[in-house]
Amino acid sequence: MPTRPRPRLNLRTLLLAFALTSAIATLANTFWVMFTTQKAELVENALQTNEAYASRIATGVEEVLRSDLDRLQFVSSSISQAFTDQPTLQKEAHRLLRQDTSFNSVLISNAEGKIIASAPSSLQLDGQMLQRRSPLLRREPMISDAFQSLAGNLVVFVSHPVFSQSGEYLGLVGGSIRLEQKNTIQALMDLNIRNDGAHVYLVDSQRRVLYHPDPKRIGTVLATGPIVDAALKQSHGSMQAPDGNGNEMLAGYASIPSSHWGVISQRPLSNIQARLEATTIKVAKGIAPLGLFGLLVIWWLGLKISVPLSRLAESAKRLDAPESYDRILAVPADYFESWQIRRALLLGANLLQEKIGRLNHQAQSDPLTGLANRRAMEETLELWQETLETFATISMDIDHFKRVNDTYGHGAGDETLRAMARLMRQASRPDDLACRIGGEEFLLLLPNSSISTAAEVAERLRTRIEATDFDTVGHITISLGVALWRKGESISATLEKSDRLLYQAKAQGRNRVVSEKELPATTR
Ligand code: GH3
Ligand code: MG
Ligand code: MG
Repeated sequence: MPTRPRPRLNLRTLLLAFALTSAIATLANTFWVMFTTQKAELVENALQTNEAYASRIATGVEEVLRSDLDRLQFVSSSISQAFTDQPTLQKEAHRLLRQDTSFNSVLISNAEGKIIASAPSSLQLDGQMLQRRSPLLRREPMISDAFQSLAGNLVVFVSHPVFSQSGEYLGLVGGSIRLEQKNTIQALMDLNIRNDGAHVYLVDSQRRVLYHPDPKRIGTVLATGPIVDAALKQSHGSMQAPDGNGNEMLAGYASIPSSHWGVISQRPLSNIQARLEATTIKVAKGIAPLGLFGLLVIWWLGLKISVPLSRLAESAKRLDAPESYDRILAVPADYFESWQIRRALLLGANLLQEKIGRLNHQAQSDPLTGLANRRAMEETLELWQETLETFATISMDIDHFKRVNDTYGHGAGDETLRAMARLMRQASRPDDLACRIGGEEFLLLLPNSSISTAAEVAERLRTRIEATDFDTVGHITISLGVALWRKGESISATLEKSDRLLYQAKAQGRNRVVSEKELPATTR
């Protein structure tokens, strides 16, 4: 049983799929490389910027604290000789408080930690004991971590020891900075607020937040985490790590040596990703028109390649069709392979047409004489019946041909038949059709002819044959019957009529033409 052919993809679909796949793969690859390279660059850039930023702020805070300590040192040396003079100490404390905006309160304590002078007086600190003993014990310039002051404020305490001229430890002078109020450190950091999504904060050695752009966060203690820990341990650096909430951060950090605090400048990774996505969309929009144009070009080229091949393939299905040669010739063959295939198909079509022509000719012609055979005659008459108004038929038969055969042999007879065919052809016009319809019976068909013209042709042929000296057999004669077909008449009746007239010619003595109108026609 014949199997149905499997449906196959055509070349155009394949080419288009190929072009689209490669275009999309190239684009995707370009985007991916662009995205990852840009991301790495942005991340590196953010890390460096944050580190530089944290270092700059750490230096700034360090300078503020150092100048605070310097002032305290100056006061400490100026009060060491008047340490027992309470009014002088009080005056110094007030002067120091007024001097600048660094401290929110100032106090002087004795060696036991008892506050002996303070400003502002409204805090009423005199006579109270210092909360933090460390500056007393350390007896050196110190900056504390944040703590809750006696007045209930979150403060850091900057202090300097006071020694007598003989080197005896007398106590300390110190100022507190209220973290939740305007202060110099806060002012410094507020100056550096950034607009790239990064924020900066300051922590003390216990991870308590001393400054944060969100004031609610000031005073809270951060959990240990890679970023805060690094900021407190290392002088400066950068890292990508999660913050306390698990959000991935790009952080730069720096520590403040005098206070052991840390400054952290950080930016969420998501912030960079959002920027990257925005850039990618911009780039995609930028290349979309060109990409579309490229696809159209590929599509057009695909058509250029596939159309000739599919048209050639289509034509190859019906190489036997008479118009196939012209159809193949009309296919554009702009590139080498299509040109070669077209040439091969043209060659094939040509050979096939030739072969078909030969077969047709063989089917329609008589092998001995090459004249049209009965089938060709019938086909021609059918066509003429449709297209012509009139045609004449001349039926002819060789006289006493049996005798010729008997006398000279069948071969000589055949040769005579061939010669007879040649003479018939010579006597007819190109539009006439000469046929051999039986052994030695012939028919000459004359389109658009009158009976008299046909009778003349018949007579001319008869005399010509009579006059011809045939090889081997010498002279022969023929008898002819001439009839006319007119539109609407039956063809077989016309043929029968011209046959009957032929037999009349035989009956009347042979070697004569009997024509439809003139009975009897020319007689000899
Ligand atoms: P007439 O027509 O004058 O009455 O006499 P005839 O001898 O020609 O008689 P008829 O036409 O009936 O004879 C036909 C003869 O033609 C018979 C046969 O020997 C010969 N013949 C028919 N076909 C061929 C052929 O193909 N080759 C040869 N050599 N002879 C043929
Ligand atoms: Mg005969
Ligand atoms: Mg005969």
